[in-house]
Amino acid sequence: MQIKFSDKINNIIKNLALEAERFGVKIYFVGGLIRDVLMGINPCDIDILVEGNAIEFVKSLNFAQIKSQHPDFGTIKAQIDDIDIDFASTRTEKYPHSGTLPVMVKLGCAIKDDLIRRDFTVNAVAARILPSLEYEIIDLFNGISDIGQGILKVLHKNSYIDDPTRILRGLDFKLRFNFNFSGQDEKLIEQYLKNPGREYLSTDRVILTLKKLFGSKENANRAFVEFIEKKYYRILFDDFYRNARDINEAIEIFKPQSIGETYVKYIFEQKKEPPALNSPLEIYKHFKNMPDVDICVYYALTHDKNALLYQNTLKNIKLEIKGCDLLNLGFCQGKLIGEILDKTLEAKLAQNSPITNFQDEINYVKKTFIP
Ligand code: ATP
Repeated sequence: MQIKFSDKINNIIKNLALEAERFGVKIYFVGGLIRDVLMGINPCDIDILVEGNAIEFVKSLNFAQIKSQHPDFGTIKAQIDDIDIDFASTRTEKYPHSGTLPVMVKLGCAIKDDLIRRDFTVNAVAARILPSLEYEIIDLFNGISDIGQGILKVLHKNSYIDDPTRILRGLDFKLRFNFNFSGQDEKLIEQYLKNPGREYLSTDRVILTLKKLFGSKENANRAFVEFIEKKYYRILFDDFYRNARDINEAIEIFKPQSIGETYVKYIFEQKKEPPALNSPLEIYKHFKNMPDVDICVYYALTHDKNALLYQNTLKNIKLEIKGCDLLNLGFCQGKLIGEILDKTLEAKLAQNSPITNFQDEINYVKKTFIP
């Protein structure tokens, strides 16, 4: 197999392969990188799996600058020639309960035992890196054929029970790469969703996976529709009454920065009642410090027109005068300054206000507050 890296990266990889031979370990590309290469997508991140202890291996290199390490997981991040590389040790894991975070059983295990713990056959193909920059493929579960056919298959029948976030990861791959769950996987998912084990569920892990699933603007919309239609919400709740159209419309209007976070908030947010806001100033103050994600979710839940008024008009209105301009007009330092600024803003926010620029604001202050 050929992998198209730049000459600089090829050089680094070659040196790593030579060092691995010297150190007595085998190193591999595995998972997403190999899947992407086999689908003709250029890899962007470089993750290397060490069959052995990655931390000891990286520490033995005199050309790697260590950035961070997690001895409990056997992972280490290093910079080599300005390129960030994540190294992981092979490991076996077990799931003491459904949905819980896995517990590491053995660090530095044989590659085949590491591959078995992975989510889908398409992500369980490894390629040993040789100093000649040839890659020796290890495809124990026919992942290459499944990549070719675009089929998502877990590696054992308890896989979704062990880790239901794999259902959401699968949906992500389905939408990104046009893959499909195998018939057997559809059945396993259906069975899991009928009787999901939530007692030990790592909600944090689910949230992280959801953020990633909904994080890509092109697919978020469809992902949320499937999340509801296929009842994937049952990983978290028995019932779910949220509407995909409401949040998708709100996202179009409010264009929040983080789409993934917006969907996740919408999924978990309690029902909201709009407060009584009686003036443009009250509306302005209510929304001013709310993060864009929160305003978007608030609107999806309430359809409160005040949020629209804020977004379309009030948000863009800013006072141009500052406290120091009032001091220059002869006002004394103190509470009054804040009150005058507030009143001027209120006048500027009013519908059809004649105050539009710095001079209008100064004139308003003079006329209203200087006898
Ligand atoms: P991409 O980064 O393009 O979304 P990826 O497959 O590289 O795809 P990562 O989340 O970076 O995604 O995971 C790296 C690899 O780790 C996967 O390819 C898979 O082999 C394994 N993996 C990740 N999450 C799980 C999981 N929940 N269960 C089992 N294996 C997993």
